[in-house]
Amino acid sequence: MAIKSDYHMHTSFSGDSTAPMEQMILKGIELGLNSICFTEHMDMDFVYEQPSEEGMFDLNTDSYLYDFIKYKEKYSGQIQLLFGVELGIQAHLKRELALYSKSYDFDFIIASSHICNKKDPGYASFYEGRSEEEAYREYFLSILDNLKTFDNFDVYGHLDYVVRYGPTKDAGYSYEQYRDILDEILETLIEKEKGMELNTGALGYQLRDFNPCMAILKKYHQLGGEIITIGSDAHTPSAIARGFQRAAEVLTECGFRYYATFEKRVAEFHRI
Ligand SMILES: [Zn+2]
Ligand SMILES: [Zn+2]
Repeated sequence: MAIKSDYHMHTSFSGDSTAPMEQMILKGIELGLNSICFTEHMDMDFVYEQPSEEGMFDLNTDSYLYDFIKYKEKYSGQIQLLFGVELGIQAHLKRELALYSKSYDFDFIIASSHICNKKDPGYASFYEGRSEEEAYREYFLSILDNLKTFDNFDVYGHLDYVVRYGPTKDAGYSYEQYRDILDEILETLIEKEKGMELNTGALGYQLRDFNPCMAILKKYHQLGGEIITIGSDAHTPSAIARGFQRAAEVLTECGFRYYATFEKRVAEFHRI
């Protein structure tokens, strides 16, 4: 396997995973990975559909850090473990996000849009009463708002995440349809020296492409973007590094020769 680092995964510290951290580590070792970065969910002011879910994505970062340090030492020499977070970005959380992201010594921060203008694109109600294109457009525009709000992150996560959930998913979706907004997002990322992740988690959603799609990756590269991390978005050990062989082919086809890893927020590049 050309890619030896999985930079997006969740354990039981995330509200939607029950995987023990140690099992994720053991699987990473079994797969022969050099490093794995935990990116637990921290989604402040998340919009919960069920009252029982309230607070599900408020990360107990102290407990997470406690276990992380324990395992980092235990498995040193076998695999490098990195302390990351997947931070849900919403424009109105400007101050909270700035404060939180500085409060811990993270190795890596993924900025992700899971909530768009106080609505969850994972639910059918997000698409009701309008065209799929209008809904996708609103999602991409909210990323631009987010980028004006917050920049203490390393990569933007699964940029076209919304196409996992639309009525026809990515069947009628193309980069060209949203080129005006997407190009502005990519230009902003490059200007701020931020990267993008190639998220292979789409394998679980029957999509044509990973997130983001190849046309977006190609455009990011054409515009001079160089910082790409690869993440499986695993919530179970069996999903770690899933699709990484294909990810290496996709990146090569898009013109990339290197992928990035981060330690203490500093990028290091590795040949694909
Ligand atoms: Zn995510
Ligand atoms: Zn995730």
